[in-house]
Amino acid sequence: MLDQLYAREEAALAAYAFPSRESRGRVWPEPPHPYRLPFQRDRDRVVHSVAFRRLSEKMQVFSHTVHDDHRVRLTHTMEVTMIARTVGRSLALNGDIVEALALFHDIGHPAFGHEGERVLNTLLAEHGGFDHNAQALRIAEKLEQRYPDFPGMNLSCEVLDGQRYKSIKKANAAQGRVTSPPLLEVQVVDWADSISYDAHDVDDALALGYLTPSDLEATRLGRRVVASLHRRWTNLVGDDLRRAAVHEIIDVVVGSLIRTSYERLDLLAPNSWSAAQTLGLVIAPEDDLVAEIAEWEQFLKERVYRHPQVLESRKLAAEQVRTLFASHLARVDSLPPRYTKVVREESPERAVADYIADLTDRAAQQEYEQCLEGSAMPNRNYQIAIT
Ligand code: MG
Repeated sequence: MLDQLYAREEAALAAYAFPSRESRGRVWPEPPHPYRLPFQRDRDRVVHSVAFRRLSEKMQVFSHTVHDDHRVRLTHTMEVTMIARTVGRSLALNGDIVEALALFHDIGHPAFGHEGERVLNTLLAEHGGFDHNAQALRIAEKLEQRYPDFPGMNLSCEVLDGQRYKSIKKANAAQGRVTSPPLLEVQVVDWADSISYDAHDVDDALALGYLTPSDLEATRLGRRVVASLHRRWTNLVGDDLRRAAVHEIIDVVVGSLIRTSYERLDLLAPNSWSAAQTLGLVIAPEDDLVAEIAEWEQFLKERVYRHPQVLESRKLAAEQVRTLFASHLARVDSLPPRYTKVVREESPERAVADYIADLTDRAAQQEYEQCLEGSAMPNRNYQIAIT
């Protein structure tokens, strides 16, 4: 049966895709599953993890105190996975690696999104810093407790390598160093991540009234999208214009990503996944569009991520994380056992960061309120309560 599954997969893959049969396996060796290929098993482990379920109460950009309809970290993850699968399938890549990594990629996000991450990174400046990409690896390799035979999720090396690439790339970019290209499947997830937030963060900002559709015309991509919509519908305004604009942005970028990557791969014709890795970053939209996307992301940074109301909620989040950090650091011995183990093996600061990173926004908010009231804070050990 397993042999048939491998053969069926390989018949559908391009020569440059990564075949599941060639996986380097897992850190803790396990017998193969009778009817799931390794990366399908990784996908299931991610979805069954507590860390994954908590993404439903972790913010993307806008806090749950603002409204209910905007994206949270979980729905962002679903959108990334959807786009990544579409692109991966169109290019005949290994859809199981793509899906597993896309579902996994944001699992290390702490409470309060990027602000939570920024504050934890500052608080851990002397202790190795904090990065959500690296935190995903800590969860997968150490913190998640689900299986009797090993710590973490024991994911396949290729999925962990894909996540490690994201983490190393960020650190290297900060120091002006180049990172060697990852598997094509990993490149697809990277693009699907930015395409998703580039579209849905603007969608949410428009829906919340932080932007108006005419603001989009400050960018080349926005002007192109609005002009194209007005050619099709002469009287599109308000929410109709917003929704159509978001669909159009995704279509324009995903369409170019698939077309351009396909043409490059067709021309360069790498005959294996390792040959494809020597070609650099092959998966990308056409160059002009890459420049337009960079301008669009700058617009997002200035007009959405630094919107006065977003800045206000970031300020509050920073205060909450700092207060929780100080409070837990003062009594690390009362953290749940899996964190006190980190106190012994690494440092009290790392253990507290792991604890806070695991909290949902709601749990962090409740603990903060208890802190202000001066009442004793019950440490949360969801792993015991829920799993
Ligand atoms: Mg993401």
